[in-house]
Order: sequence, then structure tokens, then C-alpha cells
Amino acid sequence: MGVDTKKPEAVLSIEKMSKYYPVGQGFRSRQKLRALHEVDFEVGRGEVVALVGESGSGKSTIARQIMRLEQPDSGRILFEGQDVLKEEPRGASLSYRQKVQMIFQDPFGSLNPVHTIIHHLVRPLLRHGKCTKAQARGRALELLTEVGLEPAADFADRHPYELSGGQRQRVAIARALAVEPTLIVADEPTSMLDVSIRVGVLNLLERLRQQHRLSFIFITHDLASAYHLADRVLVLYAGQIVEEAPTAKLLSEPAHPYTRLLLAATPQASASIHQPLPATSGHPELVNPSPGCAFAPRCPLAMDQCRQSMPKAHLIGPDHRSRCHLHASETSHTGGPNASALIP
Ligand code: ATP
Ligand code: SF4
Repeated sequence: MGVDTKKPEAVLSIEKMSKYYPVGQGFRSRQKLRALHEVDFEVGRGEVVALVGESGSGKSTIARQIMRLEQPDSGRILFEGQDVLKEEPRGASLSYRQKVQMIFQDPFGSLNPVHTIIHHLVRPLLRHGKCTKAQARGRALELLTEVGLEPAADFADRHPYELSGGQRQRVAIARALAVEPTLIVADEPTSMLDVSIRVGVLNLLERLRQQHRLSFIFITHDLASAYHLADRVLVLYAGQIVEEAPTAKLLSEPAHPYTRLLLAATPQASASIHQPLPATSGHPELVNPSPGCAFAPRCPLAMDQCRQSMPKAHLIGPDHRSRCHLHASETSHTGGPNASALIP
């Protein structure tokens, strides 16, 4: 949503990225579903940015565009200053594919059941020229040790089905690490794991971020996990970032009505919310959306203006932005009324 000179150097900048999917059949096929609309954000070096939102808000669509699995309709993706969309998706440079890695929700689905654990690590090491064939096994064992699979030799020659879900996710993390990435896109990496082992995997990601100065985009529908790991949280609703703030700020002073509802539904993260908004239901209009705020049909604070014009992202505090008409008067964090004071 903007540039702040105090932030770490940007590794990734997403500028006005939009993605619409054709839906329906026949005449209706001309209709488009709005998955992303003019999304802007940056990820700094060594920074963990969480993308939080309910199902269908566009989190995975952002991941697919960054990974070059799809082509956005418009907008730019700058990685270390280079416009990556200028290259055809299939021709995306080996360097970009190496520097931007992905960890998936389902660690079993992302590992090939017929191959051993060591194979999953040796392959990327050799493909990206990270070591010689003679060195590869030793390097792979180091990676297993680094992600906490010890003694590594006991895991190396097993197959994915012989490991637990948490252990498989650690292998997937080791595979991503093998090519020495700059940025890891982690799409719900702990949501399929038992609660008891989630924290271990989150702690591992935190340690790797510190040791390697890795940047992460951490996709989750769970604010409690974001709280554990993220420096900044971006809240997505109907393909737009509706609020952005440093994690502690977002959890202690959520401004956007949707964030407040989301927090109220996350007891571990919402202890500090004194005045939750009343629960609302309904779905955003993604096909032929109305011109106003996408959250208006569900918003307990909606005004006439909300149904007529799309709100802009307003700066309401240091690094804190809210896309809501309630905050239109707060053009600077040094002036205007307090954001939360506007919400009853
Ligand atoms: P979840 O948490 O369930 O994965 P999400 O926030 O990641 O949800 P996306 O998967 O990015 O959401 O989807 C955003 C919207 O785009 C949804 O309404 C989804 O149905 C729609 N969508 C995604 N891919 C396609 C597609 N290929 N064709 C049509 N619609 C799609
Ligand atoms: Fe609610 Fe209006 Fe703000 Fe949208 S712009 S979140 S409808 S108050």
C-alpha cells in the first residue's frame, strides 16, 4: 500500500495487481469474477508479511501470480527491482525460480511418494548447481539437520509416507531452503498439522528467517498463527487489502470493521478487543461487484456512501492503513480523529 523509508529494503513489490476469472457458461461466460483488485504491497528483506483473510478472499491467487503459475490481468511484480512479468511465465528465469520458493499447505501432496526424502533434496541442489554430485548427499543431510530431522541419516532413505505430517512439512521446508531462496511463499503451511506440532513448525520458520535473513509471505486464515510469526499483517477481503499494519498494532487497535469481526472470531488473538462488533453474515459480490465497498453487505457500520463509492486506503497511523470511509478524515497519523474512536 505504499513505501515507508523506515521499512527494510523491499525484496518484492506488488503494484496494482488485478486478476479476474471468467465464470459461467454461454452468455454468462462473459462475466468475470473479481479475485484481486489493484492489490499493492511490499515485502522487505528478512520480513514476514502475513496475508490473512477468509476463504475466497484472494490469498492463494496472490501466491499463484507471484509464483508465475498464472498471469495477472494488470499490475506489476517487482523482485529485487526487476519487473518479473516482462518474462513469459514459462521463461521465467531460473534465478527467479530459485530465489522465490513456495511451501504448500499439504506436505504429502507436495512430495512425490515414490521418491526417498534424500531424493527430494538432492534434485534441487543439483538442478540449481548448489553443489557437485559427490557433495549432494552430505549437503542434503545438513539440510535435514537444519530443519530438525535428526539424526538426518535416519530420515534420508525413508519415503514420505513413513513420516508424520509435521516431519513431511519440515522436508518441504528443507527442499525450499536447498536452493538458497530470498523469499518463501508459505501457503497455509501449518493448517493441516495437529495443533501440538504447529508451534514447532512456526518456530522453525522464525529461526530460519533470522539465520538466513529470509523474507516470507505467510498465507493464513488464522490470525493467531500470523501473530506468532508475522511482522506485518495484510487483511484481505474480496480481493482487496482492507487493512495493513504491524502485527501488534493490528491486533491491539484493529480499525477496519472486517478486521474487527475477524479478530472477534479468533479468541487467542482477540483478547485485547474490548468492543467486538456484532456478528454479520453474507458473501461479497465477486461477480459484477457493485461500485461501493465490498464489505458493505456485511458491515454493521455501513453508510449510504459505502454502497456508492469504493473506499481508498487511508493512512491512520505509522504503517497502518484502512480501506474504509470511516477513516477518510485521517489522512495523516499525526492529525485527525483516532481511528478506533470512529467505531462505536
Ligand atoms: P482459500 O483460503 O479457500 O484457499 P483464498 O483466499 O486463497 O481461499 P483464492 O483461492 O485466491 O482464495 O480465490 C479467490 C477467488 O477467486 C475465489 O472466489 C475463488 O473461487 C476464485 N477463483 C480462484 N481460482 C479460480 C479459477 N481458476 N476460476 C474461477 N474462479 C477462481
Ligand atoms: Fe463498512 Fe463502509 Fe467501512 Fe466498508 S467503507 S467497511 S461498508 S464502514
